[in-house]
Amino acid sequence: MYMHETSITKRYIDLLLPSLCGNEGGEVETHIYKGQLAYKFPCPFCSPFYETKEVRVRQMAKLFPATKMEYSSSSWFFRCRRSGTPECGGGIKSFYNFLLIYNPPLFNEYKKELDAMFKEKSNKLKTCIKCS
Ligand SMILES: [Zn+2]
Repeated sequence: MYMHETSITKRYIDLLLPSLCGNEGGEVETHIYKGQLAYKFPCPFCSPFYETKEVRVRQMAKLFPATKMEYSSSSWFFRCRRSGTPECGGGIKSFYNFLLIYNPPLFNEYKKELDAMFKEKSNKLKTCIKCS
């Protein structure tokens, strides 16, 4: 049911990937998490607070898809294993909340697309109810 939302989310993740490398030669690495493609990268929130570059470019943060949470409104999640700042602490965040903190202008576009999609869905539902 949320396939369309997933494809919107995936498109925004692809847009973010280059910036998630950071500006110190860090890398985004793909890996398989519970049978699905996920991404590891230097945490954009807490990495700048560490003294050595080697520590800063460590891939402590991760974006990964939901596995058994099909009723969640967001199908991708963010987690930083270091949880070094309030932004990346507190456990797993939805991609929605991650993007809100990480890139507010891009988040506004993402939210607009999601809202438009949900509106379209509920309009379709209304039409269905009318004609039945
Ligand atoms: Zn972090």
